[in-house]
Amino acid sequence: MAHEAVSSSLAVDEQDSATLHQPTKDATPKINLLGMSRAALEQFFESLGEKKFRAGQVMKWVHQYFITDFAQMSNISGKLREKLEKVCEVKAPEVVHRHYSKDGTRKWVFRVGEGSGSLVETVLIPADDKTGARKTLCISSQVGCALDCSFCSTGKQGFQRDLTPDEIIGQLWVANESYMEDVEVAERTRSVTNVVMMGMGEPLLNFKPVVQAMSLMLDDFAYGMSKRRVTLSTSGIVPMIDKLGEQLDVALAISLHAPNDELRNELVPINKKYPLEQLIASAQRYIKKDGNESARKHVTIEYVMLDGVNDKLEHAHQMVKLLKDLPSKINLIPFNPFPHAPYGRSSRNRIMAFQKVLSDAGFVCTIRQTRGDDIDAACGQLVGQVADRTRRAEQWKKKVAQQHEIVRSQG
Ligand code: SAH
Ligand code: SF4
Repeated sequence: MAHEAVSSSLAVDEQDSATLHQPTKDATPKINLLGMSRAALEQFFESLGEKKFRAGQVMKWVHQYFITDFAQMSNISGKLREKLEKVCEVKAPEVVHRHYSKDGTRKWVFRVGEGSGSLVETVLIPADDKTGARKTLCISSQVGCALDCSFCSTGKQGFQRDLTPDEIIGQLWVANESYMEDVEVAERTRSVTNVVMMGMGEPLLNFKPVVQAMSLMLDDFAYGMSKRRVTLSTSGIVPMIDKLGEQLDVALAISLHAPNDELRNELVPINKKYPLEQLIASAQRYIKKDGNESARKHVTIEYVMLDGVNDKLEHAHQMVKLLKDLPSKINLIPFNPFPHAPYGRSSRNRIMAFQKVLSDAGFVCTIRQTRGDDIDAACGQLVGQVADRTRRAEQWKKKVAQQHEIVRSQG
């Protein structure tokens, strides 16, 4: 049912999106410049016999003024513009559905891969403060996810495919551009202030494209975002946390969700491969690789609150012990239910009691506000119903149906 509901709303918006991004009909595929890092673009211009600084010029047009038509790039010679038009393009992923909520939350569904049925979601959540200045974009890194955490709807879809750098940065491009449609080119700015890699997928299992896209987020010729405002969230792929530390300086969030191995093995199965001791040690190494200007003064610990499962006071006390030598800020996330989810959301009182234990122990501990409920846009629990056509989704549905049978026959 839910699948059908989403499909029909996609159909309504499809016309609209067709005008946003026309499919290319050319026989030879053009090189898409959108996801290229500065180094790659410099190399590209050199290969055309051009000066390296052209890379910076084009990047500014694309990522700061949202111009994709080379003819409008007025500081580039007519001859070069013609050359660029022949061999390359600037193309964001196709938007098949978008919804702007009353509370300021915006959501986009993208089709990735020409002619494919793969869909990913991106959500923009504005801060609920007086200025309204903070806009956080929740970006996806994969279609589906292989890791199958027990409370996550993305995991239930199984893994379909990795996103390319242009599909990852394209989500940020589209979100920023959505605020600039009626703004004169010279007046355009970038509206998204924060990025969290907390959409669909495990970013550290799509390492190179994610690092490439994140380097564009930080690059002054592209989005020029502060490294403290760009966060990668991981369920704990230990060797890749170390690799990230060597290549990029961004904020790190760890999806902890359980304070002991027994429970975490159940909720976050990758814990069987990289247990808590190893995970905490890798987070400590990530922080140590700093400099005073680093984004790595602390890690954010994410902890989804599952009613009666991981939300008892003893769990909070275990967490205090586990995190005692790791500078961390803790974010408690009320569970966001999805159809047939085997969990419920912890009560407000229970979450606050849990928070108190952590605050009393000296941790900064916040409770995530749930926003965008009217468009089903909770960050970290995206798409849900729109793309569940993998085998795992089928097995999951069968399992749920069997459980329902058992409950019915017992009742
Ligand atoms: N794979 C990465 C990033 C994507 S998930 C990771 O696991 O960190 C982003 C965040 O949303 C994670 O902390 C994840 O545990 C959380 N999340 C997933 N499903 C959720 C749900 N149903 N309700 C609340 N948070 C959820
Ligand atoms: Fe994958 Fe993250 Fe969902 Fe786990 S919580 S299944 S790692 S997307």
